[in-house]
Amino acid sequence: MGEYRIAAIGGDGIGPEVVEAGVEVLNAVAEKDGGFSLKVETFPWGGDYYRKHGVMMPEDGVETLKPFDAIYFGSAGDPNIPDHITLWGLRLKICQTLDQYANVRPSRLLPGIDGPLKNVGPDDLDWVIVRENSEGEYAGVGGRVHTGLAEEVGMDVAVFTRAGVERIQRFALELARSRPRKKLTLVTKSNAQRHGMVFWDDVFEVVRKDFPDVETDKMLVDAMTTRMVLKPQSLDTIVATNLHADVLSDLAAALTGSLGIAPTANLRPERDFPSMFEPIHGSAFDIIGKGVANPIGCFWSGVMLLEHLGEPAAAKRLMAAVERVTGAREAVSPDLGGNATTRQVTDAVLAAVRGAND
Ligand code: NAD
Ligand code: MN
Repeated sequence: MGEYRIAAIGGDGIGPEVVEAGVEVLNAVAEKDGGFSLKVETFPWGGDYYRKHGVMMPEDGVETLKPFDAIYFGSAGDPNIPDHITLWGLRLKICQTLDQYANVRPSRLLPGIDGPLKNVGPDDLDWVIVRENSEGEYAGVGGRVHTGLAEEVGMDVAVFTRAGVERIQRFALELARSRPRKKLTLVTKSNAQRHGMVFWDDVFEVVRKDFPDVETDKMLVDAMTTRMVLKPQSLDTIVATNLHADVLSDLAAALTGSLGIAPTANLRPERDFPSMFEPIHGSAFDIIGKGVANPIGCFWSGVMLLEHLGEPAAAKRLMAAVERVTGAREAVSPDLGGNATTRQVTDAVLAAVRGAND
């Protein structure tokens, strides 16, 4: 029987609350499946670690993660530490050092969950957004000059490399090909950003020739927001830069009912380093410690983790359990209009996992 090593990093805020629930659910799925088990090691990195040690994670933290089969992550972000320190010191440090360049974000209306769009059901909204996760606008290149003086300047430089652009577009085309509609929309802003974004368009013209069976089209990012809201049926797989896809995927999460249910995977497709799975949401300062965080985003990330490990039957079982619970509206957390606690949602999903014989 196979055993997978999972590194669990709850991080800050509600992160540890949802990851703890997620680990419980993943273990139940493994037990039910019977074909594999999980060996989970928890790392107490984040804001509290920073207060004690002056860093979000140990110097050799990423080295420690390398032998694991997957990383299960909560959130980085502490009310008393600047966001750029928490983000760069933990989440981005892991993603960038392990070169997890493909950030994959599925959005789907789950049964029983009402999105804010009128007359839009589960069949009308089924997207996967692929976000470039290693460079672009979040490359970290730039600086501040004349700090504190009247003439102070702040600059962030977006970095697009042929290798970086090509590999993410190729990954997105392959993903689009694996989905029933075989359809990919390239999002840029090549009218205004006339260097890097035109480069994205140019690279796409070449790469897409290798995928004649994938139907492609192009959108400017501003027009894309209106298309997502007004014509959600017209979209399937979407690829965009680090910044653009970051924004679009939060919109996608809102259109499917709540930030609390949306999952994401930071993939290292070559598999020489572990990939990382996490809910899209952050630390949710307003509900920390209240026990009401919706764990579904974390569970759905767990589904992606199981798929990545090569356990599709277990992944399917967990997704079916989540959908059974949302569909029955038996344990609905406050962000979705109910009053169920994290514990109650978790128990409902555990029961659905254990009860299912399909
Ligand atoms: P947020 O996602 O933490 O919260 C936005 C709103 O959504 C809040 O009202 C919150 O209560 C609600 N919400 C989020 N997740 C929920 C859940 N699971 N269940 C119920 N309600 C939920 O975003 P924010 O307020 O912009 O950020 C707070 C902190 O988190 C910041 O420090 C930010 O940098 C960090 N952050 C981290 C990540 C990450 O590590 N991946 C992502 C986003 C934000
Ligand atoms: Mn974001």
